[in-house]
Amino acid sequence: MSLIKERPASDTLSWRAFDREHHLHPFTDTKALAEEGCRVITRADGVYIWDSDGKRLLDGMAGLWCVNVGYGRKELADAAYRQLLELPYYNSFFKTSHPAAIELAKLLADVTAPHLNHVFFTNSGSEANDTVIRLVRRYWDLAGKPEKHVIISRNDAYHGSTIGAASLSGLKPMHEQGHLPIPGIAHIAPPYWYRDGGDLSPEQFGLAAARWLEEKINELGADRVAAFVGEPVQGAGGVIVPPENYWPEIQRICNEYDVLLIVDEVICGFGRLGAWFGSDHYRLKPDLMPIAKGLSSGYLPIGGVMVGDRLADLFIAEGKEFAHGFTYSGHPVACAVALANIALLRDEKIIENVKAATGPYLEKRWGELAEHPLVGEARGVGFVRALELVKNKTTREFFEPAGEVGRMCRDFCFDNGLVMRAIRDAMIISPPLIMTKEHIDELIELVNKCLDLTAKELGIS
Ligand SMILES: *Cc1c(COP(=O)(O)O)cnc(C)c1O
Repeated sequence: MSLIKERPASDTLSWRAFDREHHLHPFTDTKALAEEGCRVITRADGVYIWDSDGKRLLDGMAGLWCVNVGYGRKELADAAYRQLLELPYYNSFFKTSHPAAIELAKLLADVTAPHLNHVFFTNSGSEANDTVIRLVRRYWDLAGKPEKHVIISRNDAYHGSTIGAASLSGLKPMHEQGHLPIPGIAHIAPPYWYRDGGDLSPEQFGLAAARWLEEKINELGADRVAAFVGEPVQGAGGVIVPPENYWPEIQRICNEYDVLLIVDEVICGFGRLGAWFGSDHYRLKPDLMPIAKGLSSGYLPIGGVMVGDRLADLFIAEGKEFAHGFTYSGHPVACAVALANIALLRDEKIIENVKAATGPYLEKRWGELAEHPLVGEARGVGFVRALELVKNKTTREFFEPAGEVGRMCRDFCFDNGLVMRAIRDAMIISPPLIMTKEHIDELIELVNKCLDLTAKELGIS
């Protein structure tokens, strides 16, 4: 179907031309894109996507870490269609509500930890993290400690692209463009053992990395530190998996200094680690939990913040208006799709299957890739994994400049029918949770082939 009269409905070249002339892309080198032309994806089913030339690709990224139940689920389309006819829009401002938002709020309270009983709806993970900043600061104001307003985050964190969320993020290029971070945000180094661990064992490094939080709190003064925010496994920073003793120590420090714990579940939530939430996997008790992506498996935009009883009780007791919200907070159609999505995850035992069967199988097969001469480390949890491509496996020497080898490998992947993402020189997968063992075999075979092509191009064997 085309609304544009001057061109045929399925012409890759004219799509590319219009895209180049009229479409500014997120996180894209616009000049390079104009030269190379965009890849046009036209349809998808299960774990595969197709481009406008009819080429099929295995989607190792589940879109952008989000299509947890896979593509083409009719249940989700039907839920949206029914809701569009019944009540396509109403808001939840000023004491109104509607069944889809109410039922989703109840279901979210059921699938999350017992102390998480309230949700504030947003349309994205970025908005969820901006909402977190406002909730945290409002909370400490209400608690009579307005000076407790600094939020500590980590380098290589990704919490979104709006001003607040980009400030929480720890990616240099984001901060350089736009005078960020905003005041009251501090950063510590991440638990990236492979890159920064030096001679320390992962356990020694994990403890040291957690103690950086304690040092930062002491440096700023605990009476000024409102919260710590972290992704259970850092996604867009390069799938940084913390050593096992990292999170328990972070939880201890937050408790000891009365610093709220915000666990950003936008990627890890809804099954990616083989548990409903990353907090369940790492046994954390977050005060606030931003969610998005897997909440609707990306079928429609929706996010939210799970708010712990400690905060919710004070907000409710206070009886004053929280001056924050979005026109589409709790959009009925997005809520209906999220409800249907969570029902699929639950009724088809998709997460249990990742935990018991496909997750361990992927871990085993992914681990085999560490034998490859380019791969310094094969790491991950559940269905989010990385391969660190390095110049020297023995000395853990990285390629210089970073990113070129990763891009080369990523391009080989696209050419050979696999979507794998490159973050610097780490090759990333975050596949749909419905991948079978046969799909995993196909994935590993494609990855191996593309690693070989990359090594050959570099003259390494
Ligand atoms: C993607 C992401 C976000 C931002 O979500 P958007 O929906 O893109 O705004 C926030 N946090 C994490 C951990 C993410 O991966």
